Amino acid sequence: MDSWVGHEVPRLPGRGAPLRLFDSARQGVHPTDPDGPATMYVCGITPYDATHLGHAATMIAFDLVQRMWRDAGHEVRYVQNVTDIDDPLLERAARDREDWKVLAMRETALFREDMEALRIIPPAHYVGAVESIPDIVEKVLVLLKDGAAYRLEDGTGDVYFDISAAPRFGYESQLPRARMRELSAERGGDPDRAGKRDPLDPLLWRGARDGEPSWPGGDLGPGRPGWHIECAVIALGLLGATVDVQGGGNDLLFPHHECSAAHVERLTGVAPFAGHYVHAGMIGLDGEKMSKSRGNLVFVSRLRADKVDPMAVRLALLSGHYRADRSWTDDLLVTAEQRLDRWRRAAAAPAGPSGEAFLAGVRERLADDLDSPGALRLADEWAERTLAGTADDPTAPPLFATTLDALLGITL
Ligand code: ZN
Repeated sequence: MDSWVGHEVPRLPGRGAPLRLFDSARQGVHPTDPDGPATMYVCGITPYDATHLGHAATMIAFDLVQRMWRDAGHEVRYVQNVTDIDDPLLERAARDREDWKVLAMRETALFREDMEALRIIPPAHYVGAVESIPDIVEKVLVLLKDGAAYRLEDGTGDVYFDISAAPRFGYESQLPRARMRELSAERGGDPDRAGKRDPLDPLLWRGARDGEPSWPGGDLGPGRPGWHIECAVIALGLLGATVDVQGGGNDLLFPHHECSAAHVERLTGVAPFAGHYVHAGMIGLDGEKMSKSRGNLVFVSRLRADKVDPMAVRLALLSGHYRADRSWTDDLLVTAEQRLDRWRRAAAAPAGPSGEAFLAGVRERLADDLDSPGALRLADEWAERTLAGTADDPTAPPLFATTLDALLGITL
């Protein structure tokens, strides 16, 4: 599947510091330590609705990871998927009496436009679930043969992963089993389904049903893939047995990331799948959780249609720490617009305080688990001193602008 179009990322003088990130599995901040190219797999959208600010915040967080790695001299191999077949997509298409393929194509196209407007560096591979089905079938058959998967004996053709085949299951989220069960029920799992060996066993392959799309599955029979195996197979195929970062929103920690890591680890015998499991916070609206059921989603495309500067949207999201669940407000956007205006005036000044010191400061803040609020404060201070007209380095304003562009993805 085609990715979106990227913007050139300017090179900065010198080299950035090694990036430290919070790893959910170890519950602490640890250095990322890419051996050769840095590899990252980020879970993408299920394209049944437009990109909302929560998606945007997650994509921006992992965009900073990529920018910091590049600045530290790493080649980056970045893969993102799009879950272009799954229950939520079919349910929405049925509700709106629309062809699910048309819905998926339209929302994926809109997502690409949003990502481009927000200056997210595109992944090297943007991969759909549907185009990955032959690989998924092959790996599910391996798991079945290996005794790590089983067929339900109810004639549906559904195949489940046996979590007892993953002895470390739970190491990533470290949740009590009762909580895992609740989250499984909330987030696409089926803990109460009869015939499963363990309520937490996740679906690998759903046998064909009347009225649902299905694909050939060889010895599995016709059907369609489960969600976790989709990401496991795409990551394994394009990045290998391990990745430096597996990322997504914190609502993916369990069951999605736990299960996809368990699948990969069982297929390869190598653990852990990811050096860091990295999770971005959720974005609420005016203090409430943003959700489809509340009808309070703020869409990036809506803001763009209202002529809001995408750089102000990006800056507003960067003003909070990526791991924090936080709230979107109109004030946040107004503050970001004012900030951009000040920064633009400062960057156009004939001289400012040391650009090198500013660059070093931003690198240091972002290397510390992506402290973007700290980086923004440094930019505010630099702009304030520049606009006061007391500094005299004429090379500083261009370096200020290049630093913001390269490391924060903000163009002035
Ligand atoms: Zn995923």
